[in-house]
Amino acid sequence: MSPEVLLIVLIVVLIASTTLEQVARALQIRHQPPEPPPEVAEAVDADAYATAQRYARDRGRLGLARGVTLLTVWIVLLASGALAGGYALADAWTNGGWLAPLLFLGGVFLLLDLISLPFAIYATFGIEARYGFNRTTPGLFVRDKLISYALTVVLGGPLLALLFWSIDAWGGAFWLPYAAVIALVLVLLAMFQTSVLLPLFNRLTPLPEGSLRDAIADYASANGVALDGIYVMDGSKRSSRANAFFAGLGRQKKVVLFDTLIERNTVAEVVAVVAHEVGHERLRHIPKLLAANVAAITITLFLMSLLVESSTLSAALGASERIVALNLIGVALLFGPVSTLLGVLGNALSRRFEYEADAFAARTASAAAMCDTLRSFVQHDLALATAHPLYTALELSHPAPVERIRAITTTDATAP
Ligand SMILES: [Zn+2]
Repeated sequence: MSPEVLLIVLIVVLIASTTLEQVARALQIRHQPPEPPPEVAEAVDADAYATAQRYARDRGRLGLARGVTLLTVWIVLLASGALAGGYALADAWTNGGWLAPLLFLGGVFLLLDLISLPFAIYATFGIEARYGFNRTTPGLFVRDKLISYALTVVLGGPLLALLFWSIDAWGGAFWLPYAAVIALVLVLLAMFQTSVLLPLFNRLTPLPEGSLRDAIADYASANGVALDGIYVMDGSKRSSRANAFFAGLGRQKKVVLFDTLIERNTVAEVVAVVAHEVGHERLRHIPKLLAANVAAITITLFLMSLLVESSTLSAALGASERIVALNLIGVALLFGPVSTLLGVLGNALSRRFEYEADAFAARTASAAAMCDTLRSFVQHDLALATAHPLYTALELSHPAPVERIRAITTTDATAP
């Protein structure tokens, strides 16, 4: 394939993936029935239901503007040869040293992030604020951004340097040893997520005394759960929306409840959420998802190894010689459809785990309370009640509320 044809292929792949994303979102918004579906109707009023549709449309429009902007930037970067020019600049600054590729990729990352920034600001202080969800102050927004940049440099920098070193040392065979390193890093990150990473952004506190703690203690002792592994997080400092999650590996395993969930939902509903998160722990969903992630990254690295030393790819991006850092960008764009496919598989696995955790909550706590919690996400957090199959496949790690309620009620009815 000639560099010119390869450049056209890259641009076509980019346009196709942006189109697919936007079509899926449009289908998702159109897919919603005009009235609340029967599964949620008892807890969702017509007003909240209509507001949820407007909220989705507003976010959809912003997503479209962001998607088209980034697509345009990429096409300009690719077609103008600016990427090769940028690399030459980084190379000159560092006198051809080992920092050149890191500086170049860091620069591309920063450029794309700064272009996305106005959209992120409008999402938080425009849309989220308009619908009454936002509680992030400008100061907190800046602080979050700076910490994210620092983490990217501290974690991403050395990993990227190691990647270039591995390609240098092993050529096309770099993918296997490097995948092993990434696997180790992912395990460490999962292990220390709640003890090191999360505290950079949020505060975790033990469950406060009261009827909720008593109810959770009853559930915990009946089901052999350690009560001191259940924490409350100050999610309210960024948003009024409610959530909960289970994270960590080994001794660092934690069930984390947002303070907003505790404020808003009934004791029975919060216990059902705790049971759902305990389900994720009991059914070993974290290590399973981690293994799936490692498999996906290994496949991606292997594909990368096929093209990372290609002179044609560098030429397609405007360089007169082979440049590995440039090829990494080319490979990432070219294999976008493969990442999409791996994402579809990952989402499917994650949704299966959500159904399993819901069933666990229905079995060990209360099916009715779990369904009520899901209804509260539609009524209060303006979650869309149903989901189009294409949007589900591409975007959703959690099934739509109506589908989860349906699964819980049918399983519950057939339970012995
Ligand atoms: Zn879950």
